[in-house]
Amino acid sequence: MHAYVIGEERKHSSYFVCCPGCSQVLTLNTQNEATKPRWTETGSLEEGTLTIRASIWHTPDGCGWYSWLNQGIFTSV
Ligand SMILES: [Zn+2]
Repeated sequence: MHAYVIGEERKHSSYFVCCPGCSQVLTLNTQNEATKPRWTETGSLEEGTLTIRASIWHTPDGCGWYSWLNQGIFTSV
């Protein structure tokens, strides 16, 4: 399972595919402070180590999958 960060400069969003069995493409907006839940960027875009730390809960219209994303790895809860 992978997450992708796309865009230029700091104006980017992240996209990832939800758990097997759901496979819905979800978007994480890392820019809009008003958007909840919040996503925290870690690492460096320049050094190729940029990643996101976030809790993901695919609701209310999703499959209900809940997971942590840290260092590019999803951990189901
Ligand atoms: Zn899902």
